[in-house]
Amino acid sequence: MTTDTETQKKKAVTAKRVKSAGADNNDGPIVVLFVGMHGNETAGVKAVEKVLARLNENGRDAGGRLYAVTGNLEALSRGVRFIDTDLNRLWELFNTDRDFSVTHIEGDHIPIEYFESLEIKTAIEEILNNYNHDRSRFIFADLHTTSSESCAFILLNDSLANREIARKFPVPQILGIEENIQGTLLSYINNLGYRAIGFEAGAHTSEKSVERSEAFIELLLHYTGVMRLNRERFETCGEIISAHAGVPDTYFEIRYHHLIEDAEKFQMITGFSNFDPVDEGIPLAYDEGALIRAPESGRIFMPLYQKRGNDGFMIIEEVSPFWLTLSGWLRQSFIHSILKFLPGVEKKDPQTYEVNRDVALFFVKQIFHLLGYRVTEKDRKTYVCYRR
Ligand SMILES: [Zn+2]
Repeated sequence: MTTDTETQKKKAVTAKRVKSAGADNNDGPIVVLFVGMHGNETAGVKAVEKVLARLNENGRDAGGRLYAVTGNLEALSRGVRFIDTDLNRLWELFNTDRDFSVTHIEGDHIPIEYFESLEIKTAIEEILNNYNHDRSRFIFADLHTTSSESCAFILLNDSLANREIARKFPVPQILGIEENIQGTLLSYINNLGYRAIGFEAGAHTSEKSVERSEAFIELLLHYTGVMRLNRERFETCGEIISAHAGVPDTYFEIRYHHLIEDAEKFQMITGFSNFDPVDEGIPLAYDEGALIRAPESGRIFMPLYQKRGNDGFMIIEEVSPFWLTLSGWLRQSFIHSILKFLPGVEKKDPQTYEVNRDVALFFVKQIFHLLGYRVTEKDRKTYVCYRR
């Protein structure tokens, strides 16, 4: 039971972090945006303020409601990515039964982001409560920018529900981010059973990133029916977020992920823009003094040009439309029921399989991907495949 003062305190916190506009129709759509999860990424914060103002003016015409939840308030006020730890990498902890307050004490100092994440979690719960956790009404999106120059793109955990919203936007779509980057807010929301996609608007400091974020929000409100755009504005928004000609607006998957221990000791070779094609063997970066070459051909993805973060760069490759269609069909088929008969595959519970990599078929990871499973490495011998 909560006391009155606790409720008051909660309300004050929520007011600073959560803004909303639009109309509360009985069964209207609810769009929830996260902005400023990284304190040096202000494009989404600026963009959502503009859209909220416009929606406040025309709120009576709205078909649903928009919520904007601000992420790392303290880091935003100081203009840095984070203060103690990355706010967008710690959400996995909420899915375990570990005591969050204890696991996060490093020495005698509790990271500021721990408190931020608890407040955001509370805000999410309050919004969901307002609408009786009606999954069909909610769409979540998390807005970011990158340290390198980039066109806009969408990141998503590969479920059919996520794909369905994401493909409406004329930008490249990157699948399977949750297997490479753990503990994101997006994965947390997906695991709660709601649709959620990430939008990356371009470089941190580019004015275009604000424009693209605004266009993305407006299109999302349009597609969900929260706020319909007139034809002219609809077309303009599409043009604003479109990728340049060199980058197809199709699906990509992450083939390689270069994790780094210490961003201070990592130096990306200058001049790479996001999505630039790279050939196997070309020099990409220096990490702790060693030259790092591209381990395979593809496109460079999210090269790190800032002294914070653990993701040095990734290499992505286009997924063929054939595999996407096939996987869409397979996910609704009977094939799941025969997985347990494959060699080296053991069913742990209705959602989870463990795969012994010494025994299993060569393409086991690809097969589980096609069927919509998230595949992570438990140890060198074992994959854990979890149905999204
Ligand atoms: Zn970010």
